[in-house]
Amino acid sequence: MTQAYTEVAIIGAGTSGCLIANLLNETGLDCLLLEKSRGLGGRCSRRLLHNDASIDLGAPYFSVNEHNLILRDKIRIWLHLGYLSVWGIQPQSFDGQAGLEPSSEHQVLCATPSMNAFHKYLAKQINTLTNCEVDTLKKVNGLWQIFDKSGQLIRVARTVIITAPAEQAWNLLKYVNADISDFNACQSSANSSLPQFVCTIAFSKPLKIDSHSYENGHFILQSAIHESAKPGRANLHALGDVWTLHSTYELAQQHSEKHHKQMAVELTQAFCQHFGIDIKPSILTSHYWRLAQHPAPAQPSTLSIWNDDLQLGCCADWLAGGGISGALASALSLSQNITQSFKIEA
Ligand SMILES: Cc1cc2nc3c(=O)[nH]c(=O)nc-3n(C[C@H](O)[C@H](O)[C@H](O)COP(=O)(O)OP(=O)(O)OC[C@H]3O[C@@H](n4cnc5c(N)ncnc54)[C@H](O)[C@@H]3O)c2cc1C
Repeated sequence: MTQAYTEVAIIGAGTSGCLIANLLNETGLDCLLLEKSRGLGGRCSRRLLHNDASIDLGAPYFSVNEHNLILRDKIRIWLHLGYLSVWGIQPQSFDGQAGLEPSSEHQVLCATPSMNAFHKYLAKQINTLTNCEVDTLKKVNGLWQIFDKSGQLIRVARTVIITAPAEQAWNLLKYVNADISDFNACQSSANSSLPQFVCTIAFSKPLKIDSHSYENGHFILQSAIHESAKPGRANLHALGDVWTLHSTYELAQQHSEKHHKQMAVELTQAFCQHFGIDIKPSILTSHYWRLAQHPAPAQPSTLSIWNDDLQLGCCADWLAGGGISGALASALSLSQNITQSFKIEA
């Protein structure tokens, strides 16, 4: 084999990519993560501010479906290893109506000092190429050839796993020179992701409001998260009392042409108005996510896709109900399918 050969090439180093790499590496397979961005985490990425403080720009935290016992066991181990921390919050809705009882304590999970620390732990043993966008996949003599936009060969691999959002996964799959009818779920999920504007703001003194997390019940704000109150965020204290605001998906769809900085001003005004805050915050950072969340499918899905003949698979949130727990469940499912098929081969 040439030096450019790897057993398993994993496209995308978000939650599902880092977990599938971790699980397959544990079984002894040689894995390589190929990530188009500068770092790991995907939609759990962070933004580094001028004073080295990092802000969770994507998912702020997550919780896990209590029926997924394998995933719950994994979470217990990750908590023990310090990959994740528990954050006890009392989530409220903006209008005080929908959602959980205001007094009920709810335990969610996050990584410290930022969400993508979890991904760094999962992928610490894995060879990774960042700033590496995969453009084309070709099956030649039983092996996958993986090319970038300029037509340069990145790697040859026996197995390829795609973990990108459905829209981007379909862009890779639709030109594959092989029968990919197993991957129809990808085509039907493409174009259904929802966009979102995000901004992070800092107040010069702590706000006197009831909860660390508000969700739903507002026509502009989907959620507001008290970043400073998350575990392990001491590096934020110098910035003041820090909150992250997420727009509703509808707002982001209606104003997709607007600049995120302009929308950050609107989100901030809506937040201050809602809580009657008269201190003017500073806007630390903002972003527009074109493919923020994947809505849960109407039909139960297969969790992951695996074609043994092609040695081609997919795992991602869009296959398993969306969110971080969907991405994790999908990666677990695919690793079981792959290891099962390798056992049968052996
Ligand atoms: C603002 C926001 C708030 C959210 N809030 C929550 C929440 O509260 N709770 C929750 O559970 N979830 C939340 N989510 C959703 C959650 O972040 C995602 O569901 C989850 O991170 C998806 O993981 P994934 O591995 O499936 O995909 P991703 O994280 O998108 O990973 C895919 C990776 O593939 C890479 N990639 C794509 N194409 C290529 C290519 N051609 N070549 C190389 N690399 C490529 C991408 O750069 C990316 O890193 C939120 C997301 C956002 C953006």
